[in-house]
Amino acid sequence: MSINLVTRGVKVDLSNSAGQTGADASWGSAPTIGILGGGQLARMLCLAGIPMGIKFRILERELDCPAADVCPDVRQGDWNDPDEVAKFGEGCDVVTMESEFVEASALHAASGHGITILPSPQCMAIVQDKFLQKSTLRDGGVAVPRFLDAPDEGAILRAGADLGWPLVLKTRKLGYDGKGNTTVHGPDDVRRAWEALGAGRIPLFCEEFVPFSRELAVMITTATSGTSVVYPLVETIQKDHICHEVLCPAKVEDRLSESAVKLARQAVKSVDGIGTFGVEMFETADGQILVNELAPRVHNSGHYTIEACETSQFENHIRAVLGLEPGSARLIDESAVMINILGETDGCGWPAGLSSALKSPVAHVHWYGKSRSRKGRKMGHITATGPDMEDCRSRARRLASLIYRD
Ligand code: ADP
Repeated sequence: MSINLVTRGVKVDLSNSAGQTGADASWGSAPTIGILGGGQLARMLCLAGIPMGIKFRILERELDCPAADVCPDVRQGDWNDPDEVAKFGEGCDVVTMESEFVEASALHAASGHGITILPSPQCMAIVQDKFLQKSTLRDGGVAVPRFLDAPDEGAILRAGADLGWPLVLKTRKLGYDGKGNTTVHGPDDVRRAWEALGAGRIPLFCEEFVPFSRELAVMITTATSGTSVVYPLVETIQKDHICHEVLCPAKVEDRLSESAVKLARQAVKSVDGIGTFGVEMFETADGQILVNELAPRVHNSGHYTIEACETSQFENHIRAVLGLEPGSARLIDESAVMINILGETDGCGWPAGLSSALKSPVAHVHWYGKSRSRKGRKMGHITATGPDMEDCRSRARRLASLIYRD
C-alpha cells in the first residue's frame, strides 16, 4: 500500500518505510502514538503531530495533566507497571516516552507482547543509568568527564585521590535538575555527601569536577532508516542546576561547533538512539568539548525549535518513531532565545501577569496548563526569534518578567 503524506513540503512515500525496525508506516487509517507520560513534553508532541493527522494516547498517573488539554485519550495508570504498559500499547503503532525514568523492565515486557517501543528498551536501559550511559559513551569513543563507581565511602575517598578534589557525586538513576548531584569538596566532606545522597540506599558514582566555561547542547533526531538531522549548537544557561535560558546558535568557533556536532552524533549512535535526543555538553576552558549526558527524548534545550527551525524537535521525534524521514533542522532566522518560566510560589497555575504577557506580541508564550504552580516547577517558556541575539534576549526577558508581576 502506498500513501503519501506532505508536511512542510517534504513528500514522504510511506510504503518505503514499511519493514523497518520502527512502526510499520503502511497505515490504513490514522496512526496512533502512545506516549508514556502526560507532561509538557507530551503536550508539545501532540501539538506537533495533530496537524499531520496523527492520533495520540497518553498514559499518566493523573488525568489532570498538561497533555490532557490537547489529547482526548488520556489513560490513568503507572508507566512502570509492565502489564499496564502492555495493555496501553495495544492498538498503538508505536509507544514512545517523554521521560527517561520509565523502568526499562516495563518496556522490555511490553515489547515482549509485540509492542513497538522507541527509543528501544535496550537503549532506555543504558541511558537511564548514568553510570552505564557514561561507560557506553566512553567505550564508543565519546569524550566524557572521568568517572568511577562509588559503592561506599571508601570508594569516594579513593576517587578523590584519583580524580582530584572537588568531585561530583551523582545518583546513577532518577536524577534531574541537579537533584541527585552533590559536589564533594574534599575528604572531610565525603560523609556529608554520602548521607545527602542516601548513604548507599541507591547506587552512586563519582565524576571529576569540570570547571567548564560554558554549557552547550545539541538536539539530534535519528530515523529508523539511520538518517539523522542535527539542530544548531546552543548555549544553555543554568540557575540552581535548572535550565534558565537557551541561546541559539551558541557563539563558538566553527571548529568547536563541528566537534560538538560530531560528538553528539557519535553519542546517540553508541546507544542506538532512535527519535529526538538531547546531548548536553561542557566546553572546557582549554577549548575541549565533553559530553555531560544524553536525554533520550525531546528536551528543554530544544523548545526553541518550535518557532526557530524548519521542523521542530517534536515533529521530528514523531516522524522518526513512525518510521518516516526527519525534516530539515535548519534555523529560519539568525537567532533564537528561549527562557523557562518557573513557578515562584505554591498557588494557582495562572499567574497574575500571564494575561498581559499574552497580550504582548514581542515573543511567543508557551503555557503548559498545569493547574497548580510550585516554586521552581516548569510552568511555561518564552521564545523570541530574529536577526539579533541581544534583541531576542531582551524581548524574551521583558515578556518573562511580566508573568509573575502582581
Ligand atoms: P541532571 O540530570 O540532574 O540535570 P547533570 O549531571 O546534568 O544532572 O548535572 C546538572 C548540572 O550540574 C549540570 O548542568 C552542571 O551545571 C553541573 N554538573 C554536572 N556534572 C558536573 C561536573 N562533572 N562538573 C561540574 N559541574 C557539573
